Amino acid sequence: MPPLQLTAETLEMHLREPFRISRGVQTVARPVLAHVLAHDVEGLGEAAPSTFYGETGDTVRTCLDMFADHLGDDPFALQTIVERIEGRIRRHPAAKAAVECALHDLVGKLLGIPVYRLFGLDPARTPQTSFTIGIADPEEMGRKAAAAGGYPILKVKVGTTDDSARLGAIRSVRPDARLRVDANAAWPTARDAARAIEHLSRYDLEFVEQPLPPGDPADLRWLRNHSPLPIFADESCVTAADVHGLAGAVDGIVVKLAKCGGLRAALQQIQAAHLHGMQVMIGCMIESSVGITAAAHLTPLVEFADLDGNLLVVDDPFSGVTVDQGKLILPEAPGLGVRRRNTMTASGGSVRIGGETP
Ligand code: MG
Repeated sequence: MPPLQLTAETLEMHLREPFRISRGVQTVARPVLAHVLAHDVEGLGEAAPSTFYGETGDTVRTCLDMFADHLGDDPFALQTIVERIEGRIRRHPAAKAAVECALHDLVGKLLGIPVYRLFGLDPARTPQTSFTIGIADPEEMGRKAAAAGGYPILKVKVGTTDDSARLGAIRSVRPDARLRVDANAAWPTARDAARAIEHLSRYDLEFVEQPLPPGDPADLRWLRNHSPLPIFADESCVTAADVHGLAGAVDGIVVKLAKCGGLRAALQQIQAAHLHGMQVMIGCMIESSVGITAAAHLTPLVEFADLDGNLLVVDDPFSGVTVDQGKLILPEAPGLGVRRRNTMTASGGSVRIGGETP
């Protein structure tokens, strides 16, 4: 059999509005797609590199080049291929996730079944996704929350000097919404975080994501014991190897394909968390429907989802998972079930679409 062929494609997508979190702002996303070809069937996977975890578009493309000669000729040899590319270089999880998801897409297509069935999952059990409200002034955040009326759950980015005004503005227009907050490590110490959370808890919040900078789990444990709200770890829980150290220190963790390295690594991380009695939310970066749909296929396994990265851009070149009143609806087509929308291919390998919004 001929060897599997791997090629890379950089996308360029534009945020509907600048997306601000406590440590920065983003207006453009340039994820890298991995195309894996076997038997004239193509699998697609996405790398959404984050400089916070040491990756850029360039490092992803370098990794994909490095992996291209090591895939072998059997797409069903998923475990062997994953071990082989793991042996090429440490870390670089987004690049590895792109190849690994492309292989799952390919295997699903070759077998004629969707990826959720490869994992034996029930598509009816997907949770509702939250919709994220980035940091802006309070009126603007209230306006965005009102405009997101089709989403029963909102995730609000916090870590400003006046989060209270912002949550107040959102609560006044969305009194019945389920609200969660994500501080993206904004509060310097556990005592600062405890004070802030105490203050914000009057807005009826479900949980607080990543209150502290990644560091000693003992700080999170202290905070959990002094917080009226459950605590979830995102930046503090990158892979399955981090889960054990967080046992008892947090109520839940956030799993992302771009952090852990793919669907199989995500499955390990989810199972490790559940074994320790923690809840799990599957989250995302700013990604196209390729990456978001891949992650969505695992959501029947978890309690919470935050898969809205594709909804925040105006020019997602793909369609896949859809959302109905927050509920994730998995595509039934084989593999990931993603399709390229009608596109105009611009020069330089990036793809833009005209006038179509998700
Ligand atoms: Mg987060």
